[in-house]
Amino acid sequence: MDCPRCEATLDTYTLYGKEAVTCERCGYLGVSVEHRSEPKEIESWQSALDRFNTE
Ligand SMILES: [Zn+2]
Repeated sequence: MDCPRCEATLDTYTLYGKEAVTCERCGYLGVSVEHRSEPKEIESWQSALDRFNTE
């Protein structure tokens, strides 16, 4: 999957039981929903991800 903003390769991992995608290049953050092909952007997860990345 590529970033919808800058088309860079997204990093994918599981967070809170859901598949999350992030783009290190532009800071895009989203989750993949099973019923939809387009990831949903959730900016409010940024603080949680910051904690996740520093551990
Ligand atoms: Zn991007």
